[in-house]
This record gives sequence, structure tokens and C-alpha cells, in this order.
Amino acid sequence: MSDDKNGAAPAFGGLAIDFSGDTGATTAVATATGGPSTATTGAGRVETKLVVVGSGPAGLTAAIYAARSNLEPIVLAGSAPGGQLMLTSDVENFPGFADGIQGPDLMAAMRAQAERFGSQLIDVDIERVDFSSRPFRIWARGTEYRAQSVIVATGASALWLGLDSETRLRGRGVSACATCDGFFFRDREIAVVGGGDTAFEEATYLTRFATKVHLLHRRDTFRASKIMVDRAIAHPKIEIHPNLAVEEILGDAKVEGVRLRDVKTGAESRLPVDGVFIAIGYEPNTAAFRDWLEVDEKGYLVVHDETGSKVDGVFIAGDVHDHRYRQAVTAAADGCKAAIDAERWLESQGIAEAATATAW
Ligand code: NAP
Repeated sequence: MSDDKNGAAPAFGGLAIDFSGDTGATTAVATATGGPSTATTGAGRVETKLVVVGSGPAGLTAAIYAARSNLEPIVLAGSAPGGQLMLTSDVENFPGFADGIQGPDLMAAMRAQAERFGSQLIDVDIERVDFSSRPFRIWARGTEYRAQSVIVATGASALWLGLDSETRLRGRGVSACATCDGFFFRDREIAVVGGGDTAFEEATYLTRFATKVHLLHRRDTFRASKIMVDRAIAHPKIEIHPNLAVEEILGDAKVEGVRLRDVKTGAESRLPVDGVFIAIGYEPNTAAFRDWLEVDEKGYLVVHDETGSKVDGVFIAGDVHDHRYRQAVTAAADGCKAAIDAERWLESQGIAEAATATAW
């Protein structure tokens, strides 16, 4: 599997740091690695020039660039750090790894690289933010982080059916990313679940590899655009199965089929397949930011001028705004851009000296 969403996720290690102060404020024991940091701790409050929220490829690339510009960023990495690649096994499309790399190994390397240059990573989920004035304020596990600038790189999560068998077989034939994992299903028969544009796009893409693609949808009308549905109907390798709900993904060590229920008749059936792609949509991780930043009609953050937001000094990178490409390498590129933009912005405010030489 590659570049997305499957497999097992080892945890990062880390040094426990107590950020609680002497005021009786809530004790916050966070797992932190890296440093040194510009942060001053005390009274449950930390001050810094830059906070990066999120630790997928966008967040960690932003941290690498910002740290190399002496911004000593604090990365609020989440309680399950590393982003979607932590749920992936083989990543074969990230440049630089001719033989591929395991998703968690790639993220561990990015993390080590970010720390090497002075990023401080703290494995906490943020609870809320206040972007009404500077310093921007972010609360996470009893600590208030005050930052002159913020990069939001919280990513998006693929939606799953919620079946136990689906969770058990992720990385063993169950995927949510055709671009990432289609290659592994060369000359195999597979199923795609969903009835929107993503499902039809993935089904069509997967015909490059699979001998046959079964598109399983729970209704007999589709959200997907007509042109995509028509293309799929005409495709000799795609068979559309309406009115079928996936009850179980079958297989022990790997996917062997799906158990289906006809939603109209209640009849049960089994379809033997080697892989199941879940394509029922994505959810950007924007809950903490919705009161402060613009979201589009799909719930993704809106960027202005590459990485900017409607709040000066708050930048956006990666899948939290990108529902088009959703790749590790595009997220990483976005993180780089956001860090350079943040650095330039901090310089313009007289807070930091720009260290990255970039052509404008
Ligand atoms: P979507 O339009 O929300 O469609 C999700 C599909 O998954 C729906 O058919 C839905 O069924 C089904 N679904 C949802 N939850 C399910 C569940 N628990 N079990 C079974 N089926 C379930 O999502 P999307 O396809 O990811 O598209 C999202 C947006 O991106 C859309 O605006 C789309 O146009 C856009 N997009 C565009 C392109 C393109 O233009 N090339 C490509 C991809 C995505 P119901 O219909 O029964 O609710």
C-alpha cells in the first residue's frame, strides 16, 4: 500500500515534559521531542514565534523549513502523530525511495529531520484556538500556546464504513486511496464502494490495473456527475452494482471478498474480490478553526495567495485545504510554501529575520 490510509501505526517515542506552572493551572504532561525551543514555559503557557498544528507531511515539512530558518517552531503533532501515512504500509510514490518505504518509517524520518533542526514536537490534540488578535492562542491539554504565527496542517481523514472487518484488513487489501494502492492490484478483481465522484474516479483509475472493478453503491442513483457515471457504464472492466450495502469484508490475513445485502430485497450475497477501495468521501480536520478561518462548501479551509488565510499570520498547508491532489508529496510541498510564507511574514512584522532566500 502507499501514500495513504492503510496498515498499522507504531507510536513515536518521546520525552515527557510537564508544562504546568506553579499557579495550580491544569497539569499538562505532553509527550515532546526535539528542541531546543524559543518557547518559554510557565503558568501553563508557552510563547513562540511559530506553531505548526499537525504532523503529517505538510506539518513536518513546514517544521523542517521553519526550523532551518531559526524559527524554532513548536509542532502540536496530535495524539496520533504522523498523519495518514501512519496508516499506510508501502509508500512507492514518494520521490527518493526507489524501493519504496513504509509509511510510518517515512514519517519517523520526517519527524527526526524536523527535530534535528530545532523543532519541538508535542504529541497533543488541540482543543480550541483564538485567532482574534496576536499572539494567536491555541489550547491543548491544559497548556496555552501563544504564537506570532500559525501554520494549520491538520489534514483530512478518509471516511470509512465503520466495519470491524474493514479496520482489521486495512493494508491487507482494504484501502481508501486508489492512486496510492491501485498498483498492488494488477490483474486482480476488486471492488470500489461509493456513489460519488470519488468512487467513479477511483473505479475508472483502477481499471488500469484490475481485471475487473465492481462498483458497489447503496442506492440506485448516484451523486457522481453524469459524465463519470456514463463513462463507467460504458467501460468494459467496470460493473456497477446498485442497492448493495457492504455488510462485511471477508478474509482472514487478506481480503477475499465482500458480504453484501440488497437494500431493497434484504437478500444476502457474496462477491469474491482481492481488494476493496472505500471511496465514500473525506472529512477535513477543521473543527477547531471553523470560527476563525473560511471554509468552502465541502468544509475545507480556503487559502488565499497559495498558503494564506483570512487571518494575517495564519497559514494553511496540505489536505486540510486540498481536496484535489491529496498526496503526501503535494502536502509536503505545501508545508514548504507555508513555512516560507510564514517566515517572510514574520520578517515583515519585525519578529524574525528571513533566512530562506527565495525569488518572489
Ligand atoms: P460524496 O459526493 O459525498 O459521495 C459519497 C458517496 O459515498 C455517496 O454516494 C454516498 O452514498 C456514499 N456513502 C457515504 N457514506 C456511506 C456509507 N457509510 N456507506 C456506503 N456508502 C456511503 O463524496 P466524494 O465522492 O468523495 O466527493 C466529494 C466532493 O468532491 C464532491 O463534491 C465531488 O464532486 C468532488 N470530487 C470531484 C471529482 C472530480 O470532479 N474529478 C473527483 C472526486 C471528488 P449516498 O449517495 O447514498 O449518500
